Amino acid sequence: MVATDCRLIILGPPGAGKGTQARLIAESLGVKHLDCGQVIRNEVSDETVFGKKAREHMVSGGLVPDELIIEMMLKRLSEQDCIGGFLLDGFPRTVKQARGLDGFLIDNGFRLDYIIYLGISEETAVSRLSARRYCPACGRVYNLQTMPPVVEGQCDCGGQLEQRPDDMPDTVLNRLRVYREETAPLIDYYSKSEGYMEFDGGKPGEEVTGDIVKSVLEGGRCDE
Ligand code: ADP
Ligand code: AMP
Repeated sequence: MVATDCRLIILGPPGAGKGTQARLIAESLGVKHLDCGQVIRNEVSDETVFGKKAREHMVSGGLVPDELIIEMMLKRLSEQDCIGGFLLDGFPRTVKQARGLDGFLIDNGFRLDYIIYLGISEETAVSRLSARRYCPACGRVYNLQTMPPVVEGQCDCGGQLEQRPDDMPDTVLNRLRVYREETAPLIDYYSKSEGYMEFDGGKPGEEVTGDIVKSVLEGGRCDE
């Protein structure tokens, strides 16, 4: 299916499977997958002005300040590849960022069609993140236990897989605390909105993808 003019966000704790699901769902809907964490990692590795400011926050597992993120993401959302629709993964992460996104949507005559919440236990999050590996070249994620690459240590795109420094145990615990305090309030912010849907991110990956795609197609909001 190719849907135009469809705008979605995916929310949930670190390790819930947002990136894994967003890549597949965006592909099936034909919209741009924008992974905020990956955008920041690219800026950090390119040593841009933004990247230099963001780095220290990212390394400790804290959030990059709202003003910086809102400015960067709203600019990115105005680019050509996001005009026909997008699936945002990792943005917004605070109520202030959600208000910034609302302003952008209103100014452009858009709406959020779906808000997808993926839930998992903290125990599952910790175990998944310690086994996560990612490809710096294309951003794709794998898991040594649950979603291994075909060739050990290598992405399907040919890139070498790495462990993210912020997936080390102490930083993961900090990220989960930051999630509880700063991002979880977004569930209240969005839960009464049309298009809000909750899914069990603890199920096997293909089942989660199937559940989400089915609900999006049956919901019909992307075609309106
Ligand atoms: P997030 O973007 O929410 O932080 P990821 O998509 O990076 O989460 O997934 C976290 C880790 O868990 C990765 O190693 C990924 O391969 C793995 N994973 C994702 N979804 C599932 C699932 N449903 N079952 C088992 N492992 C999963
Ligand atoms: P992620 O790849 O989604 O796990 O994000 C990795 C890190 O990037 C987070 O721990 C934050 O430091 C930073 N980050 C990603 N998205 C945001 C955001 N919307 N606001 C602030 N910081 C963010």
